[in-house]
Amino acid sequence: KLYASDEIRTKYLEFFQEKNHAVISSSSVIPDNDPTVLFTTAGMHPLIPYLLGEKHPSGTRLTNIQKCIRTGDIEEVGDETHCTFFEMMGNWSLGDYFKHESIAWSWEFITSSEWLGIPKSKIAVTVFEGDDDAPCDTESYDIWRRLGQNEEEIFFLPKADNWWGPAGQTGPCGPDTEIFIISEKERCGPSCSPACGCGRYVEFWNNVFLQYNKTAEGKFEPLTQKNVDTGMGLERVLVALNGGTVYDSDLFSPIFASIESLSGKTYEDNKKAYRVIADHTRTAVFILGDTYGITPSNVDQGYVLRRLIRRAVRFAMQLGIHEGGLAQIAEAIVDRYKLTYPELQTNRDMIIRELQTEEARFQKTLVQGLREFEKISDSLENGRLDGEAAFKLYDTFGFPIELTLELAEERSIVVDFEGYRERLQKHKQLSQAGAAQKFKGGLADHSTQTANLHSATHLLHAAL
Ligand code: ATP
Ligand code: MG
Ligand code: MG
Ligand code: MG
Repeated sequence: KLYASDEIRTKYLEFFQEKNHAVISSSSVIPDNDPTVLFTTAGMHPLIPYLLGEKHPSGTRLTNIQKCIRTGDIEEVGDETHCTFFEMMGNWSLGDYFKHESIAWSWEFITSSEWLGIPKSKIAVTVFEGDDDAPCDTESYDIWRRLGQNEEEIFFLPKADNWWGPAGQTGPCGPDTEIFIISEKERCGPSCSPACGCGRYVEFWNNVFLQYNKTAEGKFEPLTQKNVDTGMGLERVLVALNGGTVYDSDLFSPIFASIESLSGKTYEDNKKAYRVIADHTRTAVFILGDTYGITPSNVDQGYVLRRLIRRAVRFAMQLGIHEGGLAQIAEAIVDRYKLTYPELQTNRDMIIRELQTEEARFQKTLVQGLREFEKISDSLENGRLDGEAAFKLYDTFGFPIELTLELAEERSIVVDFEGYRERLQKHKQLSQAGAAQKFKGGLADHSTQTANLHSATHLLHAAL
């Protein structure tokens, strides 16, 4: 029997409601109260104030399904486990239950035949091994053992794998325990583990135990209010249940059908292109369909949106999909998701229109731009594409710098990224000065411009 996505969403919320959790709604994919990040990357993100001690109006046990976007995973798209958009099912304890209940309930939900019924022998878990800051999480280990988790499939791993905390900063943090499905793949060797990356273990749930406060002096003090934060990806749990990849479920099948009918090419022969087109278009649809009115642009979320759409267009062209194809794929996406996310239906016309406009804008220069790229790359003497050329591709042909970097990498060409950045900066200053001359006080928003550039640069670094 193949499990369907709707069934999993319902079961998850039902299960945690039975354990007295209040269902809260998904926040926007653009954070409401956090200007430091562009997108909501996890279910816990909108809950940070409550994890820090503020009282939540719905109580101390919460559950929901959160729309998440991780642009940092864009290079991974095309592999078997990463999407740039996914739904994260989560449950939280705000100073209520802790490790015992959290792990026991995860175990019950996953393995009980009343719920998901995954065979216990197919489960692996990891726990924090301990270091100078904090001791080994033997509590979690003991709980897993008592529940009956196979000892051979419990792995102790360091902070890099089994710790959550605001990177290098102060605040709540603590060990986590991650849950994996053991796939059909054989062990890659004697040291095969969930951390080796060979693909035998697929992570699908992460339970974080926020039990320390990291002080400014770098000390880890026990917290009085201990919280639990868990997150389970819908696409991943479908892999755990049905096998295959995150693209092999009813979430993607109507999208793939649309790509197939537009291209006349099969998924089997064009896996990466199918996955990139479906993933990026889906993420674009969810950004456009959100309440914030983000549209393609050269800054912040608008830049990410532009980059996603343009990358999808390039892969669609590879499959021979005609202009306007992306909007048709988006129709299939809205249809697939509109019952769960009615905002997509409400905003359908706007979503389609924006996609059409951006695709047309890019199509107009894409062929020329690719020709220009070939010309430049053929004439290179030292395999180095300079900043000026990269800037021209951006400014004249609308190539997001990441597209140039990707094309360059396919041909083992190095791009002078610093040079590009300096050239872009100069361009911005010039147009800024122009605007200042035209409008009195035009320099007033110089700081936002710099901030935008800064965050775009930050993003580039994340992507590199
Ligand atoms: P991975 O190690 O596979 O990149 P992660 O440790 O970064 O995952 P978490 O931050 O722990 O992921 O997020 C919680 C859960 O969200 C994961 O266990 C997984 O089920 C899901 N998830 C995370 N990233 C993605 C993604 N890019 N696409 C689909 N699901 C994801
Ligand atoms: Mg990750
Ligand atoms: Mg992980
Ligand atoms: Mg994880």
